[in-house]
Amino acid sequence: MFPIEKIRNDFPVLHQQVYKRQLVYFDNAATTQKPVQVIEAIRHYYERDNCNIHRGVHYLSLKATEAYEEARKEVRDFIHARHAHEIIFTKGATESINLVAATFGKWFVQPGDEVVTTIMEHHSNFVPWQQMCLERGAKLRIAGINDSGELDLEGLFGLINENTKMVALAHVSNVLGTINPVKEIVSFAHERGVPVLIDGAQGVSHLPVDVQDLDCDFYCFSGHKMYGPMGIGVLYGKEKILEELPPYQLGGEMIKDVFLDHTTFNELPFKFEAGTPNVAGVAGLRAAIKYLQETGMTAIAAYEEMLLRDATAKLSAIPGMRFFGTAAHKASLISFLIGQTHPFDTGSIIDKLGIAVRTGHHCAMPLMDYMKIPGTVRASFAFYNTIEEIDLLVAAIEKAKEMLED
Ligand code: PMP
Repeated sequence: MFPIEKIRNDFPVLHQQVYKRQLVYFDNAATTQKPVQVIEAIRHYYERDNCNIHRGVHYLSLKATEAYEEARKEVRDFIHARHAHEIIFTKGATESINLVAATFGKWFVQPGDEVVTTIMEHHSNFVPWQQMCLERGAKLRIAGINDSGELDLEGLFGLINENTKMVALAHVSNVLGTINPVKEIVSFAHERGVPVLIDGAQGVSHLPVDVQDLDCDFYCFSGHKMYGPMGIGVLYGKEKILEELPPYQLGGEMIKDVFLDHTTFNELPFKFEAGTPNVAGVAGLRAAIKYLQETGMTAIAAYEEMLLRDATAKLSAIPGMRFFGTAAHKASLISFLIGQTHPFDTGSIIDKLGIAVRTGHHCAMPLMDYMKIPGTVRASFAFYNTIEEIDLLVAAIEKAKEMLED
C-alpha cells in the first residue's frame, strides 16, 4: 500500500484553501511542492551550520563543507554515477545545459559541424544549442515526432552523421509526457562516436535513473522539480569529457593558482563551481533525495502510473477533448484542449475551482508551432496527488466545457 496519507501530511502547502476551495495542485511539471523534511533541512542549515565552504579551517566551515560534499556523494548514488566528482552543482537544469553548450561549443564545435536535438525540447535544451550553433557556424538538426507525440526514432538516427558533434534531448517531454528511449539513442550515437546530453528535468522525479546504465555523457536536472529547493540543480558528466571541457565561469573556487599573467584551474568538480555555491540549496536537495529514496522511486513510478491511467480514462470519456501526447511510454502528465477553445480560458475557469494547472506553450514554442496550436492545458501529477483530486479535475473540465462551448 502506498502511504498516501502520510505523504500528504508531509507537504504543508497542499493543506490550504484557494477561492474557498481545497487546493488541488496539478502543476508539478513546473515545480513540485516541498515536504517538511526539505524545509526543515534548509532551516537547520541557516540556524546551525551556515558558513562558506571549502576555505575555512574553523568548525562551522568544516561542518558545512563536509555536509556539502556528503550531498555530492548522495547525488552520485541517487543517479548511480561512478564518481562524486562527476556531479557538478548548478542552479538548475537550464544552467547545466548552458554550461555544456557553451564550453563544449567553444572547444569542440567548428563551422560545418552539427548538433542533433528534437522538436519536443524545452527552450532550456533548445535555445542554448541553437545560439551556440549560430555563433560557431554549425547546424542544428531537429528530429520530429509522430501523432502520438513519440520521437521519430528512425528520423533522429538518420540525422546523426560524421558531422554530428552532440545529441541533446529530453528524457521526458514536459509537454507530451513522452519518455524517450534514451538508452537506445545513446547506444546508437556512441557507435558513431557522438556524445549525448540528456535533459532529465522531467525524468528524475518520476523514474529511477542510472546514468551508468544509460551510458549518457551528460545528465541534467533541477532540485525544485524533485521536491527540493529552487536555485539548485545538477550537471552529471562523465569524468573524461568533463576533464576535456574548459571552465564555464571564472572566479573564486574554480582556480588552482592565479598569477598576474595567467591562471591554472582547479580539479573536478570545483573547476565548474565558480563562486560561493548554494549550500542551503544543496542541504535541501539532499533531504529531497532522502525523501524520494525512502518513498522508493519504483513505488512512486507505479503510483503515478496508476494516477495517469485513471486520469486518462476519465478525461478521454469527455466528448471533444483533444490530447497532445499519447505515447505508450509516458510520465504522469496530460496535455489537452477542450475542442477549439483557448487554453487560457480553460485554465482560468479551472483555477477558480481551486485546481492549479498550467496553460500556454510550456517553454516549447517550436513544438507548439509543429502541432499548430497556441498552447495546451497541462495537468501534471505527483505522488502526493489522489484519485479524488482527479475526479475534481474531471468535474472542473466538464464545467469549463459547458461554459466555453455555449
Ligand atoms: N527541461 C525540461 C524538460 C523542463 O521541463 C524544464 C523546466 N520546465 C527545464 C528543462 C528547465 O528547468 P529549470 O527552469 O529548473 O532550469
